[in-house]
Amino acid sequence: MPPPLFDTHCHLDFEPFKNDLSGEIEKARTAGVEKIFIPSVGEWNWDEVARISEIYPGIYYGLGMHPYFFDRHTYEHVALLDSRLQQQCRHGVQSGCVAVGECGLDFALTEYDEAAQQALFEQHIGLAKKYSLPLVLHCRKAHQPMVKMLKKAQLSGGGVLHGFSGSYQQAKSFIDLGFYIGVGGTITYPRANKTRSTISALPLDSLVLETDAPDMPLYGYQGRPNHPMMLKMVLNELILLRKEEEQTIACQIWQNGCNLFGFS
Ligand SMILES: [Zn+2]
Repeated sequence: MPPPLFDTHCHLDFEPFKNDLSGEIEKARTAGVEKIFIPSVGEWNWDEVARISEIYPGIYYGLGMHPYFFDRHTYEHVALLDSRLQQQCRHGVQSGCVAVGECGLDFALTEYDEAAQQALFEQHIGLAKKYSLPLVLHCRKAHQPMVKMLKKAQLSGGGVLHGFSGSYQQAKSFIDLGFYIGVGGTITYPRANKTRSTISALPLDSLVLETDAPDMPLYGYQGRPNHPMMLKMVLNELILLRKEEEQTIACQIWQNGCNLFGFS
């Protein structure tokens, strides 16, 4: 029996899955995906990700505000996030809420002020610290400022830099702060040379897998929604890139996903 798979980043509440969520989860299970983490993107989908996690076993979620929707977040939402996390923590280990996120910085979105984005992200860092939860990070064109903020915060726990593409040095600076690197469909693209060589060289115990479905379609599937059942193909590509034995990789990657969200 191969070890199970953990999709550490999948937007199961998004539109393409609405019609047949049960079927989607069933297909993922059949493909070996035993656990799925759903990040939220803003106050408007916190209820929905929590609801899905309550209904389906093996599905967990995070609460946060995605920089992509920066103009829709308010400081009232920050206060709400705080009280939500407080409620979840009271439920203890039984709660499906296992992270703060998705949150971060997206400096590719030039319409949003960088300092304002940093101020909102700072709130998320503070809440992760307050409730001892891992951070699920989105980062585009902002690796240096993000590392600087995380360093300054002196977090005891880490989290994950999701959907990674970039250089070894960028990845390593996050790993040194206790973060995992989220590996997704990018590595299936032959032209993604830099990311592929970065992922082949990073320590195996720093990597987790994700689909980011319905986004980040795999090579050959461009233009179509991505699915959590595709995770096995990301693992297969990772196995081709790495020097270790197939079984060693699969076992370690499963363990890393569990460690990231505090499952033993
Ligand atoms: Zn995401």
